Amino acid sequence: MRWPLLALALMIAACTHVPSSRHLAVSNLQSLPEPKLHYLGVGGWLIHWRGEGVLLAPSFSNPGGLGIRGLPPLRVKANPQRIDTFMPPASDVKMLLVGHAHYDHLLDVPRVMHIHTPKATVYGSQTVGHILHAGNIDARRIRALGEGDIANPYLPTARGTWFYSNGQSARDGTQPQGKTPGMIRAMALRSEHAGHAFGINFIQGQYDDDLDTLPQGLFGWRLGEVTLAWLIDLLDENGKPVYRIHYQDSAASPPLGFPPLITDGKRIDVEILCAASWDQVHNYPAALLRVTRPRTLVLGHWENFFASDPRKPARTIPLQDYQGLLNQLSHYTPVIPEPFSLVPLPPPE
Ligand SMILES: [Zn+2]
Repeated sequence: MRWPLLALALMIAACTHVPSSRHLAVSNLQSLPEPKLHYLGVGGWLIHWRGEGVLLAPSFSNPGGLGIRGLPPLRVKANPQRIDTFMPPASDVKMLLVGHAHYDHLLDVPRVMHIHTPKATVYGSQTVGHILHAGNIDARRIRALGEGDIANPYLPTARGTWFYSNGQSARDGTQPQGKTPGMIRAMALRSEHAGHAFGINFIQGQYDDDLDTLPQGLFGWRLGEVTLAWLIDLLDENGKPVYRIHYQDSAASPPLGFPPLITDGKRIDVEILCAASWDQVHNYPAALLRVTRPRTLVLGHWENFFASDPRKPARTIPLQDYQGLLNQLSHYTPVIPEPFSLVPLPPPE
């Protein structure tokens, strides 16, 4: 292709839109009592609960190719100033959960852990752990999960492992040792990262050893040996779940990302879905929703994050079919929050 044609193709592919023009009704609540979800854009969510917090890997730097909105970058670098400007207070965060190691989920995590969440332990794949080593994160703050730590959706009756906010872990249906296991727990679920286009995931691979320097290029932020979804429980003082949240930071083929049967039989209150690449796998998210049947459905990772400006209203991801996604959610009224806005949790049951 000649250069002008290539440039034109790139410009067309990089087209982002105002969400309302794609039938997306975006909410923008700025003040709400607890409990609530704080959407930080891309896969980032922050929840405060009874003196503790859980953070789902945020992304603020959002580099773009040639600085063009909607165009993916080839070189990626965290923007400390932006992170410090847009990361809300999170010093109560005990658990930082990472689903996979792509830059839009991990690039900003070292800075966030150093500056904003000094009490947080990060949970993720072995690859996530190897990359964070290069971010000078104390090894005691990294919980790189092995196969035995991750619930397998092909064995739905096998008991999963809960990781508690005080650092303990226990099989589902058993109590962790000690009296105060913390107010939050999370279970890692084997999931999948859908393709980016044509069903192909362009950034695959893993790391088997600790890195000494953070990857500089898009392709250095390898997906990882496993992609994780999460079940997150907000607990009462007796360790009983008040809220159960299911979270996916990437679309996945059913049953990948499905939770196993949980012994207490509590229903899922909130489902946080990934809108990006939803049509790259079959039956997403319709099949998942038949299992999780949440009271509140929230769409994240719906907005353009290539050279996006957090000060301006979010725009759509280039080439995404949002109407098709909304058609799959016909029994729900999904909440689609503007980045840096709030979503109320439903009243406890
Ligand atoms: Zn992503």
